[in-house]
Amino acid sequence: MLQLSKFPVKTLKSAPKVSDNRSTSLLLQAWFIRQEMAWVYNYLPLWLKVLRKIENIVRQEMNSLWAQEILMPALWSKEHWETTKRWDSIDVLFHLPASDNKEYALNPTHEDLVTPLMSEFVQSYKDLEFGVYQIQNKFRNEKRAKSGLLRGREFLMKDLYSFHKSEETLLSYYEDVKVAYKKVFDRLGLWSDTYETLASGWDFTTLNSHEYQTILSIGEDEIYICNDCKTAHNKEIVDLVNWFSCSKCNSKNHSVEKACEVGNIFPLMTRFTEAFDMKYTDSDWKTKEVYMWCYGIGISRVMWVIAEYFMDDKGLVWPENIAPATHYIIVMWDNLDKAKDLAKKLESEWKEVIIDDREKVWFGQKASDADLLGIPYRIVISDKTLETGWYELKSRNSEETQIIPL
Ligand SMILES: [Zn+2]
Repeated sequence: MLQLSKFPVKTLKSAPKVSDNRSTSLLLQAWFIRQEMAWVYNYLPLWLKVLRKIENIVRQEMNSLWAQEILMPALWSKEHWETTKRWDSIDVLFHLPASDNKEYALNPTHEDLVTPLMSEFVQSYKDLEFGVYQIQNKFRNEKRAKSGLLRGREFLMKDLYSFHKSEETLLSYYEDVKVAYKKVFDRLGLWSDTYETLASGWDFTTLNSHEYQTILSIGEDEIYICNDCKTAHNKEIVDLVNWFSCSKCNSKNHSVEKACEVGNIFPLMTRFTEAFDMKYTDSDWKTKEVYMWCYGIGISRVMWVIAEYFMDDKGLVWPENIAPATHYIIVMWDNLDKAKDLAKKLESEWKEVIIDDREKVWFGQKASDADLLGIPYRIVISDKTLETGWYELKSRNSEETQIIPL
């Protein structure tokens, strides 16, 4: 349990106006984050709790694909980036001069690392197929970042890379990944407003990439959703000269929504395996190319999207499975021991508890802080409630209270 009297961070009286979206202001006011410099944030204890829970949901679903978790370096040498001719072509690549007269990059993506790394283990068809993923900080040297936490220079990503014997097996794994992604966004409460969206692929393939776009009024993307088959298209691939026509069913009936990209899938095909000479010997003794795709989820971005998506006029609202705590116990007067007893009981039922035992803070302030933090359930322990032997449980999403025996 977390006792606020021993907690170092304090809420602010009002939301600071620091960005063009309200959730970032609320996150600052409710002591989830502190800004270090433009577009770079410190994650304080409660934000980190939310982050770890989202990470674990993503981990569980990646593990269900038989993918193995690894961790690659954030720093990588210029020579490797030159192998794929990307040192100069990626405009957001951070270039770092180092003391040994060499140059390094802070990685915005890891294809250039994971391909030579895994090629060491692939000789024959028996060594394929597999997926590896990591949850790692990425860096983009953005000229201007946007919307608070939406597009920063440093952010946390889950990136999965899969390696295949053929295009056919790759496509079947890709269908499995789509199922896993749906589960991830469903468990995060976003699936009903999240669309698998066709977007442009890279120049070496005719295949589309897929983006997972969550509808959000301040989103930076625009998606065209077919009203007949629900296929979504990123604005960048919609032929606006001829107006919209669905790429799947040809319907012209559509709606346009602002959305925020929370995940993506890129068909890499043999772009990187060729560059690093990753090949395998098949059962017919022929040497063949390895096919590869990558699949991303922006962990820190999705966390911000959840904050923005669920907030209301009183503050943040967290889905119970990723909330920093499930219960917020307001203690009035000298009743801390009783509150701790109740917290222990709740913890034995796998609940997580914040006890607001701050001195000289009135009930109204504690109640509005509980709402601001977005904790799903609020309990009040006072002389009055103890006298009756019952306590009141109020849900963050409704005005109704339940009466429960202590
Ligand atoms: Zn359609």
